[in-house]
Amino acid sequence: MMGNNMSGWFKIDLWKRVIGALFLGLALGLGLRYGMGADAGGAFAETWISWVGDLFLRLIRMLIVPLVFLTLVSGIVAMGDPKRLGSLGARTIGLYLCTTAIAVTLGLIMATIFQPGASLTPDTFVGADTSKMADVVESAASAGGLVDRLLAIVPTNPIAALASGDILPIIFFAIMFGVGILMAGEIAAPVGKWFDGAAEAMMKVTMIVMETAPIGVFALMATVMATKGLGVLQSLGTLAIALYLACFIHMILTYGGIIKVLLRLPIMPFFRGVTDAQAVAYSTASSSATLPVTITCVEENLGVDKAIAGSVLPLGATINMDGTAIYIGMVALFGAQAMGIEVSLAQYVLIAVMATLVSIGAAGIPSAGLFLSGLALAQVGIPEEQAFLIIGFILPFDRLLDMMRTMTNVTGDAAVATAVAKWEGDFDEAVFLAEDRF
Ligand code: ASP
Repeated sequence: MMGNNMSGWFKIDLWKRVIGALFLGLALGLGLRYGMGADAGGAFAETWISWVGDLFLRLIRMLIVPLVFLTLVSGIVAMGDPKRLGSLGARTIGLYLCTTAIAVTLGLIMATIFQPGASLTPDTFVGADTSKMADVVESAASAGGLVDRLLAIVPTNPIAALASGDILPIIFFAIMFGVGILMAGEIAAPVGKWFDGAAEAMMKVTMIVMETAPIGVFALMATVMATKGLGVLQSLGTLAIALYLACFIHMILTYGGIIKVLLRLPIMPFFRGVTDAQAVAYSTASSSATLPVTITCVEENLGVDKAIAGSVLPLGATINMDGTAIYIGMVALFGAQAMGIEVSLAQYVLIAVMATLVSIGAAGIPSAGLFLSGLALAQVGIPEEQAFLIIGFILPFDRLLDMMRTMTNVTGDAAVATAVAKWEGDFDEAVFLAEDRF
């Protein structure tokens, strides 16, 4: 690790520095907002602090395309046998769907217990800003109908896919190319080696960038808190509590359960190993931007082989969003409660199905889940115009909710990657257990 012999700063485990930075940023941001006043505090953070967070975001986003492409090709080559892709894919998608189904159920149960919309009335939403809603909804989904979206997984021009950073087409082409290298045998062996070296180098670049994570996370948190504050607690307090609780329960019981019961591993090393990714997810509210950090954590701290990390995680960042699924179900019931609509059992099932689909289709970017929740609101009979009003009403307060669901989304990807690695025999238990320390 870089800097091990340097000053005391680098001797502290990265995850501890990142967590410390997260809380310091939170405190500074709130201090600015409630000390200087919302406008002045927000403006101060926008001028003096936000660029540091933006710089960090640029640094990690810089890693996404090369890291995913190189790791995946070299991972497929390391796998040695294309036939293994079938079981890998089936296990990954199967587990992603199972965890999402549990998440949706939990979200609906919590929203039924907490009744987050019960204290509101339909006229609450009148006047909410819906001006840009239709455009944003379009971009929050990976645009187009279902068939178009499936077709778009196959890139017509892989270089263009790389250039525009379309993760699913990149995954598709990387797998095909890796398989090609394997099938070509000896003549392509140097190409495989080249990808190995390039992927290894890219991991090092990622680790350098990760050393800046404490500063980046600090700045992102300070900016978010200074500009957005805790208004969500006043306007949507019950929804916020229900979401945070559901996400915590899901992380501890479902992901903890996967680690402890299915894999028979201790839980603490898992959560400690993913802390960096969780903190970055929480402060950026984007699973896609967090992806390089998730890949590093899972490989370096959890002992997951790079073939698994390189394939399971990029897929997860786009299709596996348990926190989002929890949220979509909750928003649907929130809307129904506020509008005074009785929800039948059949509608519960429809909401669950829709929440699952939306969580798969939503892009890993801030507020994507909320913009698409209109689809679930439709299941309880709320017309589009009214749905836009409800979404517009929640939107200004969504950030703090988004942060929690993104953290859950990313933790879920890591848990599934660990499980698939263990089942596939591509798991280094010694690395995982080495996290079992303070
Ligand atoms: N921001 C979330 C993510 O990137 C998606 C959402 O809005 O729920 O994972």
